[in-house]
Amino acid sequence: MFIFKSPDLLHARISNRKKEGQTIGFVPTMGALHQGHLSLIERAKAENDTVVCSIFVNPKQFDDKLDLVNYPNPIQKDIAMLQSLGVDIMFNPEADQMYGEDYDNTDLDLQGLDLIHEGKQRPGHFQGVAKVVRRFFEIVEPNKAYFGQKDFQQSVVVGHLIKLFDMQTELVVCSIVREPHGLAMSSRNERLSDVKRLKAAFIYKSLLKFKERCFFKPLPEAIETTLKYLHSIDDATVEYFVCVDGETMQQVNDLSESKYVAVVTVVRYDNVRLLDNMVLKDER
Ligand code: AMP
Repeated sequence: MFIFKSPDLLHARISNRKKEGQTIGFVPTMGALHQGHLSLIERAKAENDTVVCSIFVNPKQFDDKLDLVNYPNPIQKDIAMLQSLGVDIMFNPEADQMYGEDYDNTDLDLQGLDLIHEGKQRPGHFQGVAKVVRRFFEIVEPNKAYFGQKDFQQSVVVGHLIKLFDMQTELVVCSIVREPHGLAMSSRNERLSDVKRLKAAFIYKSLLKFKERCFFKPLPEAIETTLKYLHSIDDATVEYFVCVDGETMQQVNDLSESKYVAVVTVVRYDNVRLLDNMVLKDER
C-alpha cells in the first residue's frame, strides 16, 4: 500500500493510473476504522481497479472543538487494517496541505441542506463536509465515491455537491453496519461504557418499532409514541427524530408526501451523540 501525504503527488499518481485506463474508487474516512468503514472499502475493492482511502480528521467539520481534540486517532492500527484489506493507496494529509494559503474558504450553496436537522444541531458542520469532499474530489477525481447511509444527511449533501459542480463522480451509498445487538457502528461508540454500549441498542429497536407503527398510525402519532419511549430511557436525550424526504431532507408529515421517506434521529446517550436512521419507504 502506498501512503501519500501530499495532494499534488497523489493527484499525479492517480492521473497516471487513469491514463492507463484504471478506474478509481474512493473511500473518505476520519480513521478509527471499524466494520462500517470496512464494508465501504470492500465494496470499493469489488467495483474498481484502484482503491484510495483517506484518513483525515477534517477540522472544518467540527463545530465542537472538544470533539475534535478527543477524536480517536489510532493511525498505526488503521494502516494495518487498510493493508490487510488490500487498499492500494492511503491518503493521510495534514490540514495545511488540504487547505493551503490560497484555499478559497467561501461557503458553498447547499440550498439550505446545511441548516436543517443535523445541520441545525451542528452549525457549520455540512459546510465543512462539503468543502473537504470537494477538495478530495479535485485531488482524487474518483469514478466512484463510497459513503455510508449511517450519515444519511451527509450522503444527501454529497449528492447535491456532485450536481452543483457537475462532477464526474458516482455516489455510492452503502448500508448501515451495526453491532451485533443493533447499535449503528461509529468511532464514537468507543466513548460509551461496555454496559451502555449494549443498552444503546434501544435506538435501533425504537426505529424498527417506529417503522412498523408508521404504516398503521398517522406519522405524528407514531412519532409521539416513539418519543415517549425514548424519553423514558435513563441518560438519553433526543436531539431530533424526524421523517424526511430522502432526496431533499424536507420534513414529511405523511408517508404519502414522498416516494422516498426516511426517519433520521440523533439520541444523546450518556453524553455521546448517536446518529441513526431507517428508510421507511423507497418507491423511486
Ligand atoms: P467517518 O470516519 O465517521 O467520517 O465515516 C467515514 C464513512 O464511513 C462515512 O461515509 C460514514 O457514513 C461511513 N460509516 C460510518 N459508520 C458506518 C456504519 N456503521 N455503516 C456504514 N457506513 C458507515
